[in-house]
This record gives sequence, structure tokens and C-alpha cells, in this order.
Amino acid sequence: MRCPYCGSLDTQVKDSRPSDDHSTIRRRRICPDCGGRFTTFERVQLRELTVVKRSGRRTPFDRDKLMRSVEVALRKRPVEAERIERMVNGIVRQLESSGESEVASEAIGELIMEGLKSLDGVAYIRFASVYRNFRETKDFEALIGELAADEPAAVPEAAARDPGAKG
Ligand SMILES: [Zn+2]
Repeated sequence: MRCPYCGSLDTQVKDSRPSDDHSTIRRRRICPDCGGRFTTFERVQLRELTVVKRSGRRTPFDRDKLMRSVEVALRKRPVEAERIERMVNGIVRQLESSGESEVASEAIGELIMEGLKSLDGVAYIRFASVYRNFRETKDFEALIGELAADEPAAVPEAAARDPGAKG
């Protein structure tokens, strides 16, 4: 494993132990070149997942990306790295065991919100406020669609006839 401080490839494992739930192995490493210390986690990858975005675009599921968005929400919060690791593992495990090879990005967002809720209230609010904003936009669009359906007289005929306007 390359040293994140000096780039040396000659780092050594000092200590190796499983996480509490035995889903990961945590290794403490030291770099003999610069004395830098860091930790790595080893885990199982069960299957390849594809994320389907709201736009319909598909991208390979990226655990690091998920971790980064969780870390952004948890920035400067007093939460141990192992607890974050365990939460992210839990999310990945749920996704992998769902039996589906494709997962909606919104479903991942829901799982992150759920996880953060039990991990750290501040991080949860940070994440939820961003996440809910775009849900509200969708809700708003749905509401406009309903109003248009209830009051056809108020809607231009072309729009009323457009099947797409029903949502
Ligand atoms: Zn180093």
C-alpha cells in the first residue's frame, strides 16, 4: 500500500484486527521512509452494482464516492472513523444483498440519511437539508401537475391534452 504522505511503496503493517462486526479488517500501517502512520480497511465485494441517476444515466457504483458524501456531511464532527466505516459497510451490504444489480441514486440517498440519523444529528441535518431540497422540487412539480388536472379550464388546451403533463 502506497504511503499517502510520501508516496513510498514500502509501507509495513503494524497491527491488523477485524472491526466489531467482522465485516472488515483494519490495518494500521507505518511508512519506514517518512514515519507516516495510516489505516486501511479490507472488505468483501459481493457484486458489481450500477447506480441509476435521476437523469437515467448509469454509472458503476463507487464505494469511495458514497464514503466521500458521508464524510462531507460529517466534516469536523466527533465521529470515529470505524463507526463511519461500519455505517457505510451496512449501506453497501444492503445494496449488495438486495438482489438487484441496479440501484437508484435516490435509494442510496435514503440509506445515507437513515445511517447518518443514528450516527450524528448534525451530519444528518446537513445531508437531509441538501437531499430534501431536491425532493421538495419534485414534490412541487407533482403538486402543479395535480392542480392542472383538477382545473382543466385554467390550463391551456395544448398542455391539458399533453399526456406528459399528467406526470
Ligand atoms: Zn511515507
